[in-house]
Amino acid sequence: EETLSALPQQGERDVEGTLRPRRLDEFVGQPRVREQLQLVLESARRRGVPPDHVLLSGPPGLGKTSLAMIIAAELDAAIRITSGPALERAGDLAAMLSNLVEGDVLFIDEIHRIARPAEEMLYLAMEDFRVDVVVGKGPGATSIPLEIAPFTLVGATTRSGALTGPLRDRFGFTGHMEFYSAEELELVVRRSATILDITLDTDGAAEIAGRSRGTPRIANRLLRRVRDYAEVRADGTVDRDVARAALKVYDVDELGLDRLDRAVLSALVKSFNGGPVGVATLAVAVGEETTTVEEVCEPYLVRAGMLARTPRGRVATALAWEHLGLTPPAATPF
Ligand code: ADP
Repeated sequence: EETLSALPQQGERDVEGTLRPRRLDEFVGQPRVREQLQLVLESARRRGVPPDHVLLSGPPGLGKTSLAMIIAAELDAAIRITSGPALERAGDLAAMLSNLVEGDVLFIDEIHRIARPAEEMLYLAMEDFRVDVVVGKGPGATSIPLEIAPFTLVGATTRSGALTGPLRDRFGFTGHMEFYSAEELELVVRRSATILDITLDTDGAAEIAGRSRGTPRIANRLLRRVRDYAEVRADGTVDRDVARAALKVYDVDELGLDRLDRAVLSALVKSFNGGPVGVATLAVAVGEETTTVEEVCEPYLVRAGMLARTPRGRVATALAWEHLGLTPPAATPF
């Protein structure tokens, strides 16, 4: 079943591949990160050295993987892709690192989930382009230093706060990805419609953009679901009415909240009387993983002004009560 969360879904990678912006000037939005990155890349290019390691942080679906690929493309370099959870043993990372060619970009998604031994190996690799490979066990074990070709690490994380200090310190530049404005998402949706050969009018694009939770991945996903509806129930053209009718079928409300977002708000308001409640308790109440609630749902609910994270737990704002059609209690903060 297709949900609308910002996490990639099975089979979607192919479509995402075709919709990915290839160069920095094709990448919509994130003006700050784009400008900062442009300087980092251009200066490295002029000096003829691989640029500093780059950390990209922000909620899922905002374009971190796309930017990593763009960095490689702009540098005319090859990219190797892996993820924190895939690097369980230091040996996995050593194999990856020793295969790098000078100037390569190594992309590690979800870098905050890297296992400790691999992380420690990464320190030396990032700093000195060297790793120490331990051979043998016990008192006879020796450590063999191994040279690595100078490379650029691009790390992506949905939780930069979960990175250890030593790892964070080894990145020369951190790009903080923000949610996209409706105008920016309109550009994303129009570009995707052209690539996918979907007829989309201005109002249709605006309707989809406004309900995409500030997230390009969701915008592209909604576009495809609206396209389905347009083809099956209308004449194939996506206009405002078709977009609205389709999004209703898919349970996306006027603010772009999907079923899980509303379940979280609803539990917070109805079961916990608006909070404060711990995120783990809230996650159990909606039958989801804590990390999903924390990293996928909450950032947008916070940004939309409906949920507040306080030291004592999560709290629903007056806006959240109103969005659910309820009257907030007089004591509601915010
Ligand atoms: P993340 O790695 O942050 O989860 P991705 O880079 O995988 O996000 O982006 C998900 C999809 O959203 C991409 O396939 C691409 O189609 C689209 N996308 C993301 N950022 C942009 C952007 N700035 N401009 C156009 N499309 C984008």
